[in-house]
Amino acid sequence: MTLHQLTIAQAAALLKNKEISSVELTRAVLDRIEAVDGKVDAYLTVDTNGALAQAKEADQRLADGTADTLTGIPLGIKDLMCTKGLRTTCASKILENFIPPYDATVITHLKKAGAVLVGKLNMDEFAMGSTNEHSGFKVTRNPWNLERIPGGSSGGSAAAVAADMCLGALGSDTGGSIRQPASHCGVVGIKPTYGRVSRFGLVAFASSLDQIGPLGKSVTDCALMLDAIAGHDPRDSTSVNEPVPVFADIPDGDLSDVVVGIPEEYTNAKGLDPQVDAAVKKAIATIESLGARTITVALPHTEHAVAAYYVIAPSEASSNLARYDGVKYGFRDKSQTDLMEMYRNTRSQGFGPEVQRRIILGTYALSAGYYDAYYGKASQIRTLIRNDFQKAFESCDAIVSPVAPTPAYPIGATLNDPLTMYLSDVFTLSANLAGIPGISVPCGFSDEGMPIGLQIMGRHFGEAMLFRIARGFEAAAGIQDKKPTLE
Ligand code: GLN
Repeated sequence: MTLHQLTIAQAAALLKNKEISSVELTRAVLDRIEAVDGKVDAYLTVDTNGALAQAKEADQRLADGTADTLTGIPLGIKDLMCTKGLRTTCASKILENFIPPYDATVITHLKKAGAVLVGKLNMDEFAMGSTNEHSGFKVTRNPWNLERIPGGSSGGSAAAVAADMCLGALGSDTGGSIRQPASHCGVVGIKPTYGRVSRFGLVAFASSLDQIGPLGKSVTDCALMLDAIAGHDPRDSTSVNEPVPVFADIPDGDLSDVVVGIPEEYTNAKGLDPQVDAAVKKAIATIESLGARTITVALPHTEHAVAAYYVIAPSEASSNLARYDGVKYGFRDKSQTDLMEMYRNTRSQGFGPEVQRRIILGTYALSAGYYDAYYGKASQIRTLIRNDFQKAFESCDAIVSPVAPTPAYPIGATLNDPLTMYLSDVFTLSANLAGIPGISVPCGFSDEGMPIGLQIMGRHFGEAMLFRIARGFEAAAGIQDKKPTLE
């Protein structure tokens, strides 16, 4: 196995035993980017010099005994987390040359741990989308089939991990943006409980739904990254002061004390690809073979999740994105002398069509006279969805479902059909609306060789249970070592 193919856990052990150095490992990852990113297009910025400097510092820490588990590990970051001195674009022309003067809290944590930050990863602009086609700069491709979408919005993060262009990555998830690309690219990704990870320095899309989380080559790797970034942060008033367990201490194998709920609304969902359905059913059988008991649960308000999300998320986005007006930072249309014209042109030229669509939708939903009918109503549905989960978790420890209704589809398939793209979020949105954690773990492949993911959702702050079931499943299913060939 070559160095760039290592998991974080494997690399950390080799670094600790001084069998490899972080500089060697980082060089291997940079070489890999050089070799394959021309095909995949996952990175918006590669910080070669910064990464090598951090690797040297990491080697020093490894030598003097002050190293952490992530010390010297090359990671990639979705380009909507602020990195001091390093361009942060949100894949938007409006922030094309934005250099943040500060680090997001998650970046501060990773730097403290001694991780090597290789660069910034492509995404749908401002995290709005499920395909990466809505990036203002380029389309990331799925390493398993370069003609297909990697998913989104954290498609760059998922593709980079799948193609071994970093050992792990951070993404963000507002309605599925970690889990869905993880599923499409055959990697693991977890959206933690809302409030588990600080959002300070995460460029806001929909503040009541956004959450940062890791994508990795294994369940253990995701646990190791979440260990480094989770915890209360006084600079994010929505981060919760709950004790954080050591997630990487995952008990092995036996699930005989675990009850897993299967929601009938999800298994009979319209538009569910039979191959996805079959892979998920097989995964459930594997989880049962580890001792877990399965029961049917009801999530009766699921059918309203897409409608509620696509009112709440654009509404919050329209408010959050009001700050990009060409005055304070980012792109400005300098040809105008009239202030209103300058605003108009800056925003029409700086934002792409999907972002403009969301701003218009959200502004309409929040406008006087409509607020109660749209945002108010959607918030009530949100409460009903949250109550559904609470009730279901009275009789089970976790809920399993598909992640996406189909495997990754061809690039271009939904480009002019936003409704179809929105509908494909049906299995992931509810976890964000309810604020609960959800993990995507690879569970099979389609006949065409595209990865399929299994979603496991849990109680608020119940990530440890998700890691436990996912780790048990991963070991029993044994599909983790399959790699894309990138030809
Ligand atoms: N696909 C969803 C959307 O377009 C979710 C995006 C996300 O989680 N950031 O809004």
